[in-house]
Amino acid sequence: MNAVDRDVERRLYVGVITRMILAGPVLMLVIVLPEVAPLDWTWVAVALGLFGVVVLNSFLAVRYRSLRGQSWFVLVSTLLASSAAGAAIVASQDPGATVPLALLAAMAFQVVARSPIGFVIFAWIAGVGIFVVARLLIDTPVSHMVTHTVVFAGLTAVLLATIHFLVATARSAQRDAEALAELARRASAARDVEEAVASSLPAIGALTGAARARCVTGPQLDDTIDPRDRRIDLGVGSSGRVELVLEGADRSTFVTAVADLLTPVCERERTLRELVHHSLTDPVTGVSNRRGLDDRIDRADAEGDRTVVMLDLDHFKVFNDTYGHLAGDKLLGRFARVLEEQVRPDDHVSRFGGEEFCLVIDADVETTNRVVDRIRDAWATDPSGVTFSAGLGAERPGSPDPGGDALARADQALYEAKASGRNRSVIWD
Ligand code: GH3
Ligand code: MG
Ligand code: MG
Repeated sequence: MNAVDRDVERRLYVGVITRMILAGPVLMLVIVLPEVAPLDWTWVAVALGLFGVVVLNSFLAVRYRSLRGQSWFVLVSTLLASSAAGAAIVASQDPGATVPLALLAAMAFQVVARSPIGFVIFAWIAGVGIFVVARLLIDTPVSHMVTHTVVFAGLTAVLLATIHFLVATARSAQRDAEALAELARRASAARDVEEAVASSLPAIGALTGAARARCVTGPQLDDTIDPRDRRIDLGVGSSGRVELVLEGADRSTFVTAVADLLTPVCERERTLRELVHHSLTDPVTGVSNRRGLDDRIDRADAEGDRTVVMLDLDHFKVFNDTYGHLAGDKLLGRFARVLEEQVRPDDHVSRFGGEEFCLVIDADVETTNRVVDRIRDAWATDPSGVTFSAGLGAERPGSPDPGGDALARADQALYEAKASGRNRSVIWD
């Protein structure tokens, strides 16, 4: 039991005992007054007035406490206690102070015993015990005593069973609410659905009864899942369809609620991935944009040689002015495809701006120059006849900004390539 549970339990029992102590005088009056005075409206009014205090107290508790269920439960139990006492008086025809005592004693035992069987037994023991004491103190006929014991203990047991049920329901509802809140909190903080599930296993276990829970995505679906496991579709995440697999889930009530809290995490993960992709991609050519290039240039993980190439289409403005901007866009797309086809998957192709492209190649400048030659040969087959100029700049090891340096060198070399007649490559020297 965690600290929250303990606190809930403590408040529940403090609430019950407080109300029962408040209800005690009411019960006493209800029982004792008819004996000393004939039934008249005076004692009814006094009894109702005191009972009103108990009810008001419960209402105030409902209004100002956070544990609403507890306060309602206390109100209901107070009403039940009063009704049970009234019923006992009618049944016995011989009321005495033993009724509220039996109730209070059984209530106290219930607090100690904390189990349904325990409190039924204790209720009977309390009833019997009190009547044994009463038999010693007052001269009550044995037959009367037996009747009283049965009636009072029975009523007490019913009352306490109701209270116990209400306490258990309130506590389990509280635990479920806490588990749902915990899952919601973890789901909203998680980066992806796997993390959401992994970080909220206790909450998912409490809500569904599952011994283990995990997320499976795309290709591994089916192969790894036991047919007895419960599978819940969570929609499409960033890398395919996602399912939540619950091993040994024995509660159905919250399975849908758990899925409802996890599905948006999947959607969010996918949307986020799409947004990141869009923010790093050039819409005209589909290659990386300037932001993607900056990311790559700044990444200081490259070990070994790295060369930056700046490429610029020659007299592209003329092509645009002759064939229109849409044809120009298509040409840019074709050029980007050739670049992508001629480099290795780990190399980086980006559109730097207008009709300028940039390559980041993990190789020395001579090797890179051969790659650019290959690109030139492949591009020569394009029907447009447009050529390009290229500038190559190698990274200088030990520079505080190796990528930025190489880019600046490649840019200078490109100017040289343009100035010296275009359709050529120049290596920064
Ligand atoms: P140079 O050989 O000196 O590089 O001449 P150039 O005509 O290629 O260079 P300039 O800088 O004079 O012109 C670049 C042209 O690129 C002008 C502009 O219309 C075109 N351009 C820039 N961005 C786009 C685009 O997204 N789509 C199209 N179709 N054209 C573009
Ligand atoms: Mg140009
Ligand atoms: Mg240009």
